[in-house]
Amino acid sequence: MARINDAFVTGIGKMTLEEIALHEDFNLIKNRLICSTKNCDSRLTFASRKELNYLRTYRGDNHSEDCILNFDREELKRKGEKIAEIEGGLTRAKLKSRNKDFFKKLYIPTRATDTTKGKNANQIKSDSKNPRNYIDAKLNTDGTGDVLTETEQNGTRVRSPRINSRELNQISEKDVGQIIKANGYISEISLTDNNSAKVYVKFNNSRAVYILPPSFFSDEITANQINDYLRVMHTYIARKERKKLQIITLCEVKKIAHKNEIQELYINSYNWIDLAIETEPPKFLDLPNFVAQVVTKVF
Ligand SMILES: [Zn+2]
Repeated sequence: MARINDAFVTGIGKMTLEEIALHEDFNLIKNRLICSTKNCDSRLTFASRKELNYLRTYRGDNHSEDCILNFDREELKRKGEKIAEIEGGLTRAKLKSRNKDFFKKLYIPTRATDTTKGKNANQIKSDSKNPRNYIDAKLNTDGTGDVLTETEQNGTRVRSPRINSRELNQISEKDVGQIIKANGYISEISLTDNNSAKVYVKFNNSRAVYILPPSFFSDEITANQINDYLRVMHTYIARKERKKLQIITLCEVKKIAHKNEIQELYINSYNWIDLAIETEPPKFLDLPNFVAQVVTKVF
């Protein structure tokens, strides 16, 4: 099945997958995608999997018979079914590797646009004779609790939690109540003395504020230690000469900001946060490592 690289956007015209992903009105235009083949009006859906953006045919729609993207839905194989859902936390190492994947998507663009890797994005892969049912794991919103294992429970596979990465312009109603991976260049940090903080960010004309609630200060290391780290980051951000610093983090979307309001995102756990500093080449760092390098004047 062919990969879909572009779409016709109603009211705008033909756009590439990349142009759609970066568009400032992404949430509006993503619902107006149609196959770009002449005389084919099959709708398309924007999707993202394993840090790779792709377009797929809208569920139930068919391409016109002479469209190069035409495929026979009868051939699609049956998938296993979800039989239960469990909730829990992930280890710091696993959370970090998810953030690192997002870092790679942001800084190694060849990966996101690599046409060979997305070749099968439009295909549903599974074993039709023996579809395997699964248990879906979901990350809890407080960042604590039992660690989710990606093993079998009574012979049923437990799928590790799906955490979508979103650029700030792509956050929508669909994400409310979910934990997502998000980013942004830090422009300001406001610290209070009662174990909470706000980190203001910008990315591609969008703004957001990351809220670090008291739960952020209650993980593993002491609140004092975390406050010290944030103070170093605060001083660094206020410096005239500095490298650009991005936050790369898991966060909870509680609600969508109204027009002219700033989007709030909650970093409920200290384990969720990592950073990217734009040295040459850019570096992926956790907060303690960043602080250690600032203190020793590496940056
Ligand atoms: Zn088509």
